[in-house]
Amino acid sequence: MNIKENIQELRKGISENVKLVCVSKFHSEDIIMEAYDAGERNFGESRVQELVAKYPNLPEDIQWHFIGHLQTNKIKYIAKFVSLIHGVDSFRLLKGIDRHAKRADRVVKCLLQVRIADEDTKYGFTPDELREMLEDKEFLELENVEIAGLMGMATFTDDKEQVRSEFQFLKRLYDEIKEKYFAGKSSFQELSMGMSDDYPIAIEEGSTMIRIGTAIFGKRG
Ligand SMILES: *Cc1c(COP(=O)(O)O)cnc(C)c1O
Repeated sequence: MNIKENIQELRKGISENVKLVCVSKFHSEDIIMEAYDAGERNFGESRVQELVAKYPNLPEDIQWHFIGHLQTNKIKYIAKFVSLIHGVDSFRLLKGIDRHAKRADRVVKCLLQVRIADEDTKYGFTPDELREMLEDKEFLELENVEIAGLMGMATFTDDKEQVRSEFQFLKRLYDEIKEKYFAGKSSFQELSMGMSDDYPIAIEEGSTMIRIGTAIFGKRG
């Protein structure tokens, strides 16, 4: 498994407008450094404990993405340094992030996760829950979070057409939300969708940010 070659191969196939988050969960600091030395600066982790253990040992110019399901009681461990939280899936969690970001004297960027998959195991807002929150007065008062866009995960299936239609659904919702609630705000600009198995489809359907683990680092564990 040559990480540098995997990255070069991957980057050859994607346009420069698409941001790459290297998903380093379950991989050691040495392995992460191989991707770092190949020029990558955006890394994604899905467990708070693991992220908190790794980040002090790695270069300061790494941008850390939290991509997992974040529990409210763990926000405080990452609020000081995280660059983008991808999986914000409830108003309660967003309010918690706002509170901890304020204490850390920061504005933390967040993506709102939408449940697009046909699986109960995946988290996220429904489109109606999302609109309801965005119209809530309390939402408008949050000052220490910046909504940078939406995130979603397609169903884990070999049915490419199903995956494509889930990504299309998310892209349409993204366009609607951007126009309706974030008009004129350039901060709302990311659509995080696509993983090792489905990123080419995600990019065709409008992804701006892909989260890739296996295709860079090989199988986990
Ligand atoms: C693990 C994970 C990824 C990366 O998955 P691969 O299939 O290894 O590319 C992307 N997004 C989320 C939310 C993940 O948990």
